[in-house]
Amino acid sequence: MIKENTLYMVVPCYNEEAVLHETANRLKEKYASLIEREMISPDSRVVFVNDGSKDKTWDIIKELHEGNPQLFSGIDLARNSGHQNAVLAGLMTVKSLCSMAITMDADLQDDINAIDAMVEKFHEGNHVVYGVRSARDTDTFFKKFTAEGFYKFMSAMGADVVYNHADFRLMSRRVLEELSNYREVNLFLRGMVPLIGFKSCNVYYERGERFAGESKYPLKKMLAFAVNGITSFSTKPLKLITAMGFIMSIVSVLAMLWTIIVKFAGASELGWSSTVCSIWFIGGLQLLALGIIGEYVGKIYAEVKQRPRYIVAEFINDSKKEEDK
Ligand code: UDP
Ligand code: MG
Repeated sequence: MIKENTLYMVVPCYNEEAVLHETANRLKEKYASLIEREMISPDSRVVFVNDGSKDKTWDIIKELHEGNPQLFSGIDLARNSGHQNAVLAGLMTVKSLCSMAITMDADLQDDINAIDAMVEKFHEGNHVVYGVRSARDTDTFFKKFTAEGFYKFMSAMGADVVYNHADFRLMSRRVLEELSNYREVNLFLRGMVPLIGFKSCNVYYERGERFAGESKYPLKKMLAFAVNGITSFSTKPLKLITAMGFIMSIVSVLAMLWTIIVKFAGASELGWSSTVCSIWFIGGLQLLALGIIGEYVGKIYAEVKQRPRYIVAEFINDSKKEEDK
């Protein structure tokens, strides 16, 4: 049986050798204080998920586990599966071991001190607690601009996400169980969790700078992530195509009327520019529409294949304690 208030932190790590020790130290302190105040049980753990790193990340995780098996655990994925899949792999692996799980990036950009408030909100009966950034002062102008544009565009496109919330969140065991029923291959957790429902609330924190190392989310990945988020959660782009087609039909009726009028007024022959412009314009629109439909077809293709979203190569967790009980 799991003890009440057992907290498992899930920390995805991809080439994070530069920050892991510091992250582990800070979490260790935080856990000690939370356990002392009896906010979480002494069975609570920090689970680092190694997402196919090419550096020493997994070695460091193993070392941390050996040095303190009562606190640190590790999951080694068979290959790099991406941030969202790594987070899900962690959550699904620990869901039967904990009463709540918090997901947090390894780079210390999420404020560890927000964990207290998150656990408190859990005790107050919330099943989901979203960590929301109150400031982006430390982000570069570019990151801030693209990230805020992302949230605005997402909601304009009909995907319901919590504004300025990334993947720093607490979920109860019950929510994790429900999450396991969402079988989609195109994962977009921050869109999925609000769909599950249950009582939820926000906790605000200031987002810091990356402690060390480089961002693993270059613009290309960020754009792919945004497209995935929109197409996974909304068919609004398809509806926009329909609307565009409708407007174009009305415009073409007007154009037809215009040509007839010009013809009967005896001033024809002027058609070259307008013909060439319309060919390019309509051609462009058609390609764009095909591309958007193609996005969805690609999605369906990936979904019907039902390939596993991640493969756990190894889970190191202090199991002796489990057997003792
Ligand atoms: N990450 C991962 N797999 C990947 C890319 C990133 O597990 O393929 C992890 C990474 O180690 C970090 C978190 O996801 O803990 C967020 O990545 P990062 O800090 O690079 O993104 P940013 O904060 O710049 O958006
Ligand atoms: Mg980061």
